[in-house]
Amino acid sequence: MIERFTAGQQDVLLVVDIQNDFCPGGSLAVPCGDEVVPVINTLAAKFAHVVLTQDWHPRGHLSFASSHAGTQPFQTIEVAYGPQILWPDHCVQGTVGADFRNDLHIPHAELVLRKGYHYNVDSYSAFYENDRKTATGLAGYLRERDFSRVFIAGLAFDFCVRYSGEDARREGFEAVVFEDACRSIDVDGSAAATREQFKSLGIRCVSAETMISSKLMPL
Ligand SMILES: [Zn+2]
Repeated sequence: MIERFTAGQQDVLLVVDIQNDFCPGGSLAVPCGDEVVPVINTLAAKFAHVVLTQDWHPRGHLSFASSHAGTQPFQTIEVAYGPQILWPDHCVQGTVGADFRNDLHIPHAELVLRKGYHYNVDSYSAFYENDRKTATGLAGYLRERDFSRVFIAGLAFDFCVRYSGEDARREGFEAVVFEDACRSIDVDGSAAATREQFKSLGIRCVSAETMISSKLMPL
């Protein structure tokens, strides 16, 4: 039998990076990234508590290929904290590309968590930047709000969703990923690697349909 979930007061939906640049027409478009928006809108209406993340880079950010002479997007270089994939310029602070999608409709979201704003560190995870030391503050926020279960949806499955899920577990939260409310970039088999990693960490990948209406939220 398929497990069903009902959101309670201890549950939060983390909606990862539903921004113009990650959708078709954007500078770092995740294939079919726009398809998750209606799925996430429906999901979010079933949660009393929703947190949105927003990738938010300064111009000339370390993760941009354009910041490193002679490099191309999707190439990996060594930086102070280890390997870093280089990306096209994306989600630059204050630009349309960094805006949330117009069709994302979650007026009751309680927090917008921005990440990736330090010049010299990229941030895939909503919890820790890529140096794995700099905290975004999200774990403390979730603990203070007494959340114990983090449901995750968004872009991209194999990067920001993956690292956010792993860190949620590392921080002691239960983590559940709605895989059909995510899409992948899929660099060198990264989507399959993400599924394996989730399995080994006890992070469940489920369909958005397993979420039934919450008693807390009128639909
Ligand atoms: Zn980014």
